Order: sequence, then structure tokens, then C-alpha cells
Amino acid sequence: MRKKVLVTGGAGYIGSHTVVELFNAGYQPIILDDFRNSDESVLDGISQIIGSKPELLRGDVCDTNLLSKFIKENEICGIIHFAAYKAVGESVEKPLNYYQNNLEGLVAVLKVVSMHPEITFVFSSSCTVYGEPFGQKEVTEKTERSIPTSPYGYTKWLGEQIINDVFNSNADLRLMSLRYFNPIGAHESAAIGELPIGKPNNLLPFITQTAAGLHDQLTIFGNDYPTIDGTCVRDYIHVVDLAEAHVKALDFLVKESKGCHEVVNIGTGKGSSVLEMVRAFEQVNQVKLNYEFGPKRAGDVIEIYANVDYAKELLAWQANKTITDAVRDAWNWEKLIRSIE
Ligand code: UDP
Repeated sequence: MRKKVLVTGGAGYIGSHTVVELFNAGYQPIILDDFRNSDESVLDGISQIIGSKPELLRGDVCDTNLLSKFIKENEICGIIHFAAYKAVGESVEKPLNYYQNNLEGLVAVLKVVSMHPEITFVFSSSCTVYGEPFGQKEVTEKTERSIPTSPYGYTKWLGEQIINDVFNSNADLRLMSLRYFNPIGAHESAAIGELPIGKPNNLLPFITQTAAGLHDQLTIFGNDYPTIDGTCVRDYIHVVDLAEAHVKALDFLVKESKGCHEVVNIGTGKGSSVLEMVRAFEQVNQVKLNYEFGPKRAGDVIEIYANVDYAKELLAWQANKTITDAVRDAWNWEKLIRSIE
């Protein structure tokens, strides 16, 4: 019998890839989503890959009655909590929406977990909690967290704090916060991928949409940073590798006999500059990209990448896919959804 896992936000970008990998690993994922930031067609994409429609609980993660009813009726071994808003710029414009949705959703899920300590819990955290790691580009989980530069960042920072406090109040709980670096790419089948709503803020969707003709050009934000080529450096990780990290996180927690709140970096351990990403995209896909250099974006971190030793040690996980895989898969996905030959 497959062990059931509730995946909040399972119709989203990282959630949908995680649903596939959970299924492949022998779990039975159940998606909790209200499709406010995703499209129901993702369910067809998932079923193309796993051969059946994933189970769906339609609703709002903040709805504690819905969660309690579901938990009463289903024996689950874990909750992976993705459902949250994630656009940094939007969070500055609409901070209350971010604090309300991201914190209320987390609290609602943690209430369920606190009442059912047998249920393990994995939280989508982010390398935003490090802020600008001055003088230290490679960050370990022990690197001090900085003051976040956006309400979105604060919701992740506070999210980890809330989980810590909950663990301090009940040391039997098995909890994990995964600090994602920059997820990119799509499933290699091109059946699922990223579906940004409106103009994307993130680099790779902007690159693929520009190549597809949706934007005239990509603006590279700043070219005189103290980095290899003047553009910012990030740790870009293939979304399928990231999805697999969630499976490993769950495997670990389910087997763990004692309570814990583990915090783990999930990246590749290698930094790439914006220009390197643009060149990789052009070279791998044989597509010319129109770009210009523009002013720096407020709040951008200059250079950061993950130290991934702890992920290897604790979860026996490491990223296997390359930037080449990611830019190819992202472009195949973009071509498919835009019907480009
Ligand atoms: N970036 C850019 N042009 C864009 C979008 C992003 O030059 O249209 C740069 C951005 O300044 C940063 C990198 O790409 O240096 C990654 O940005 P993204 O928003 O994807 O991730 P984050 O900054 O949150 O790590």
C-alpha cells in the first residue's frame, strides 16, 4: 500500500514536479490546491507522466476545517507545504496578502501536525533567509540569517521561526525546512513546467518567454557587480532535482524515530552568473536571445550559492542534472505551450 502524502500547492511549479517524484518513489500524493495561482491543466500533465490523474482536494490551505476533515478521513504519513505566494515584487506592493496567506497557511497546517505528531512535515523555505551573505558567497545552514529584504522573504524567515517554536513546544514532531536556491527547468517530458501568471520576475521564464517572442528583450539587471562578469550569481537547480530532494526529505522523516527540525540547503553547490545562463540558453538551444544591460534591481543579492554537504550527509541527496539539462527542458516546455516548432 502506498503511503499517502498531502501536497499543499501541489498544482504549482515545484509542487507538481514533487507530486510526480513522490508517485515514482512509491508514495500516493494528494494535491491540496485552489488553483488561484495555477492552472487545472497541470493535472493532465501529471497524469501523462504517471499514467493516472492525481488525487485532488480542492480548497484553501488556510481552511482549518477542510484540513481537519481530510486528516480524519485519511491516514497520511506527511504534509509537504508549498502553498504560498512567491513573487518578491508583488510582496512589496501587497504585504498584507503575503503575511496573511503565507503565515496563515503555515499555521493552519502546523496546527494539524501538532495534533497528529505521527504526521511528518516539510516546509518550502528559501535561500532568501540568508539575505546578502557579505564576504561569504557559499552559505551553509549555519551561516547567519540576515534581515530579509522583502515581505516575501520575511514570510520564509518567520516561517522557519514558527516551525522552530512549534518544535520547541513539542519535541516529538518531525519537521524539515528546505532552503531552496533558484529552481529552474521543467520535466523532461515537457508535460509539466512553470506557468508564470503575468510578466515573470524570475530570470529563466523571462528568457524563455523572450525567446518565444512574448517580450522584445531581456533586461539584465546590472553589469558592474564584483562577480566573474559583472552580473549577479545564483545557484540554479533543476526543478526535478529539487522535487527529488522532497522525496528524500520525506523518506528521512518517516524513518526517523525521534523528533527534529532539520534545516537543509537544496542547491547544486555551484554559482552561475546571469550572463552565463543567457549564453547557456543560447548555446544549448541554438536560439539567439535579444538582451540589454539595464540598471540594478533594488534588493538583488550579488552572489550566493549553496554549500550542499548537509543535504548529502542527512538525505543522501545531491543534484544530478545540469544547467544544460535545465535550459533545454525549460525551452522545450515553453515551445510546447506556445506551439513553437
Ligand atoms: N534577472 C535579470 N533580468 C530579469 C530577471 C532576473 O537580470 O528579467 C537577474 C536578477 O537580477 C538576478 C538573477 O537574474 O540576478 C536571478 O533573479 P531571479 O528573480 O530569478 O531570482 P532571485 O533574485 O530571487 O534569486
